[in-house]
Formats: sequence, structure tokens, C-alpha cells
Amino acid sequence: MNRPIDALLTFAEGLNATFRPEGGRGVTLEVSYVISSQMNAFSASDAKCDAIALTAGLFIRYWQAAQVFDAEEFRAIAWSNPKPSSIPVNPYRLSPTINMADIIRDWKDHKVAASQPARWLAFAMTYMILHHELAHIWLGHTLLIPFDGKLSEDYPSDIDRIVLGQTLEIAADRQAMTACFQSFVLSNELTPDFPAMGTGDMIHNLALSSALAWELMGRMSRPEPFKFQRGVHPAFYERVYFCAEALKMLSLTYTDLEEKIIEEIIDHATKVGIYAAAILTGGGIYNPDLPDLVKLMKEKFYASAMMSNLIRPNLERFKRGLNVPEIHFGRKRAHWTDHITASDG
Ligand SMILES: [Zn+2]
Repeated sequence: MNRPIDALLTFAEGLNATFRPEGGRGVTLEVSYVISSQMNAFSASDAKCDAIALTAGLFIRYWQAAQVFDAEEFRAIAWSNPKPSSIPVNPYRLSPTINMADIIRDWKDHKVAASQPARWLAFAMTYMILHHELAHIWLGHTLLIPFDGKLSEDYPSDIDRIVLGQTLEIAADRQAMTACFQSFVLSNELTPDFPAMGTGDMIHNLALSSALAWELMGRMSRPEPFKFQRGVHPAFYERVYFCAEALKMLSLTYTDLEEKIIEEIIDHATKVGIYAAAILTGGGIYNPDLPDLVKLMKEKFYASAMMSNLIRPNLERFKRGLNVPEIHFGRKRAHWTDHITASDG
């Protein structure tokens, strides 16, 4: 198994086998790359099938960005622990002239001679986005809000459409990070291709992948990526913080690392991802240390968890099965299996 899509399909089979209720629908997944300049990734469902599409352009950007981490300067920064302000602003830019077909073919044929870290990063970034889309399907979002945009009749009319949309997005981000944490940190299902790293390294690299993936997506698709956005999707930099917060909670719950260490690792890796995306795209850098911003993101993250409780009754009948283990706030050192029994999400 080498490609993120293969890994996702295997994960989806596991979901059906473990979390689909008796006689339930589960997920019938088709995943493909598409050529489009209009979107990054999407999921949709009809009565029988569920589809995920990822634009080839996004995938290629991720692959290129990951390869930049082969450069000594970047590698030293990403895998050691200097101050992010020491990142040199070199003109590493994504090439405007790339041959998509060649890169995809080489990737499929395993010909691309990149370092292990670069391959890992490219895989993890793509895998995370695919899991975000799978989460929309599994959690019932694609049936609550079909692809034509018309809401299901049971839409909770007292909940603002934008609040609903952002809540669903944050829920999908949270589950995507949970799934990646399970795949990379808790199990060794991907180890044939990616030999096991230490827990701290794995958490670091997941945080880096997440920040880089969302920041690059944002910078590719939004002219003003730092503007607060009152849309169905949260702003991309908000998602960086939501995912980092989710990763902190997962690491606290399921590893033996101290809280302070977890925060240091994730905050450092997140900054590296943010800075790297800015350098790669030639864009400006907002200050990831800004206390007000971080506080605001945290509040919004937890507020969305509360909002999820209000939306749950309407989502219940659209869900494909039991929840993939959720983040249980504030609970430490629990076992993964404690969380897979109740349909509580
Ligand atoms: Zn989404």
C-alpha cells in the first residue's frame, strides 16, 4: 500500500467492518483525482454511492511542497527545534510549469526518489484531506446537505446556515485528525511504507502536515487568506488551529507525553507549517503567536463542539455508523477502545 487513496479505502473498509450497525448503510466509497481549478476536494453522496474527489493540482502542490523539505535548510528546521523566526526566507517557490501527468504517473509507479520525510509529508497531507472528506460522508453531512446545496427537510431551522456549515467543517477536521492519529500514531498499519517513528516525532510531523496542508490550500484558493471569513467554511488558518487543538487533545488522551511537551512540539511544528506555506507561495506571514488570535481560535473550537450537540439529533439518521472514536475533552490516558461503543457523535 503506497498511495493515500489506497490507504483511505482500506480505512473505509475497516470502518464498515467495525462501526457499521447491523443492516446499516456504511460507506460505499469511490475516490478519484479530478482536474479542476474551481475546488480543492469534495465529497458527495447519492442513494447508493459515496464519492470523494481531490484535484490533481492540490495533490501535486502537496507533493512539491513536501519535496522542498528535502532541502537541508528546511529539514534542519522541520525536524529540529530552532525558533521559527530563524527560518530563512529563501525563494523556494512552487514551479509554475509542472507536468501533472508525469508527476502522478511517477507517484503511482513509486519512481519518485524523494527522502523518507518528504514522502511521509506528501502522503500525510493528502491523507488528511481525504479523511476530512470521508468524515463528511461518515458523519452524515453529505446527506444532510446534498451536493445541489438544498438542505434536507429536517434542517434545524433555528440554526444559522453559516454556523451549521462551520460546525460541520470543524467536526470533519476533528475526525480527520482523529483518523490520522489512529493510522500513524496508534497503529502501525502504514509502517510497511513508513517505518515507525517515535511518538513525539509522529505528533510533530502530523502537526506539520496539517498546518502545511491547510495553509497551502488556503493560499492557493483565497486571495486574502487572513481575512475572517463569514462563510460556510472556516478560514483556512482557523483550521490550522482547530487541527492543532484536536491533535493536542488526542496526544494528551492517548500518549504518555507530558502536556507541556505536547504543546511545545505541536506549536513548533504548526509554526513551521505556516511559515513554510508562506515561503512556498510567496505570500505574507501572519504572526502565529498573536495571543488574541490563538485565544479566539480556541474559543471557537470548543464552541463548535457544543454546537455539534445541538445539530446531532438532526444528523443521527444520516450517519453511516457509530462514530470513529471521538476526542473526549479533558480525559487522559484512556484506551482507544473505551470510546468506540457509543453512537454519541
Ligand atoms: Zn469540508
